[in-house]
Amino acid sequence: MPPLMYGTAQLTARLEPWMEDLLADPLLCQELIKQYGSPLNLHDFTPMSRNITELREAAAEHDVDFQIYLARKANKTLGAIDQAVAQGCGVDVASFHELDQCLKREVPADLLIVTAAVKSSALLKLAVEKNVVLSLDNVDEALELLDVAAQSGHRVRVALRLASTNPTIAPTRFGLRAEQWLEFLRSEERTESLEVCGIHFHLNGYSGEQRAVLLHESLTLIDALRNQGHAPQFVDMGGGIPMSYLDDAAQWAEFWKALADLPEGDESLTWKSDRLGANGSQPSSAVYPYYQQLIRGEWLGRILGTTPGEDNQSVAQMLNERGIQLRCEPGRTLLDGCGLTLAEVAFTKTRSDGVPIVGLHMNRTQCRSTSADFLVDPILLQSATPRRERIPGSGFLVGAYCIEEELILRRRFEFPQGIAAGDLVAFPNTGGYLMHIIESASHQLPLANNLRRGSQGWVRDDIDSMILS
Ligand SMILES: *Cc1c(COP(=O)(O)O)cnc(C)c1O
Repeated sequence: MPPLMYGTAQLTARLEPWMEDLLADPLLCQELIKQYGSPLNLHDFTPMSRNITELREAAAEHDVDFQIYLARKANKTLGAIDQAVAQGCGVDVASFHELDQCLKREVPADLLIVTAAVKSSALLKLAVEKNVVLSLDNVDEALELLDVAAQSGHRVRVALRLASTNPTIAPTRFGLRAEQWLEFLRSEERTESLEVCGIHFHLNGYSGEQRAVLLHESLTLIDALRNQGHAPQFVDMGGGIPMSYLDDAAQWAEFWKALADLPEGDESLTWKSDRLGANGSQPSSAVYPYYQQLIRGEWLGRILGTTPGEDNQSVAQMLNERGIQLRCEPGRTLLDGCGLTLAEVAFTKTRSDGVPIVGLHMNRTQCRSTSADFLVDPILLQSATPRRERIPGSGFLVGAYCIEEELILRRRFEFPQGIAAGDLVAFPNTGGYLMHIIESASHQLPLANNLRRGSQGWVRDDIDSMILS
């Protein structure tokens, strides 16, 4: 039997067992929506343990001392922090409140790193007071930190964010070049106030080769810092560890081919014939590579075995020879399998020119990341009491913001048994970024609630009751 809903060019989601259990119980889903509103973010963090284990096993195979910090910006729930810490991981925080909430959750200072791109004075002070490592981005920030350090009376722990000078790596706004950091640290007063614990970088994209190059550069900088009298102990390679939302490589290739073959203006696959940034039949770089073959442990293992320098030493050997711990800050890949978003169908109608549309009680910031679209097919849960008779057909999902381009997803979907107000649409695997990274409460529509599955069933995550000021 075909699914009740699928992309006109199909991209079938990989589901976790907890998702299958939940979707097999549409009555429960309806009850949750009635109680907590639409859309609703549902979490089960058990898959995070598997994701962590895959990474750790790859590091252990190379005898590398290894630690994982969950990038909190990828999912705001406190349940995600609890799960990471219960598994012995740390948390990478990107703002005062992200840090403050972790500290109040009793995450130990040693299991935290502050990587915020712009750091408020309140954030610098809190990190110094609690002895949390700060990843330094620039000289102005470092000078402000030195002022805070002078008032605190103790040395401040920092990692230096390294910007590569390798010509194969794109220019970055983040961090400084190695020689800029060495120059900054030449002053004795600065060296006395700052304890340089490690080197940090984070790259765009998912290239293992580029990360091997940066690891090599980081270790070269560590050698220079040791010569200047510092004692760095780790290299933190940031995030960008790939995962795969889809199981079927052929579907992924066929989707891009079908899109490339469409005549201009043809809306049979996407709204207004959107190419999603593609040029020809290759996957667009404007979307996340939703299908990937080399992921997590295998991807990390390859990097550790790479020999990026001239001396034929592998990354693992270079780390081990220096007694350096490797750290990483995965967001998306740790949250793989941990979330799902449910939304209720508000109406079905046609655009003024007859194109069928399906309105959801949801807006487009509630399933969106920096990727041009979420290329995973949602799942339809039929209501036992639809408002109208369902008529087989296809259409686009639109949302609540008063904008013509308010599409929940840009792809067209088939509904072989129809769809009606009162039905539910489930977006699988939205736990990494898709729920939270750009969600907004525009039009005074409240943010979605967040639930987590515990031993007693579905419970609210405490993040929704926290008021920021
Ligand atoms: C966003 C970010 C991460 C997480 O990236 P993922 O792609 O989710 O793994 C890690 N570190 C830093 C500094 C980041 O900005």
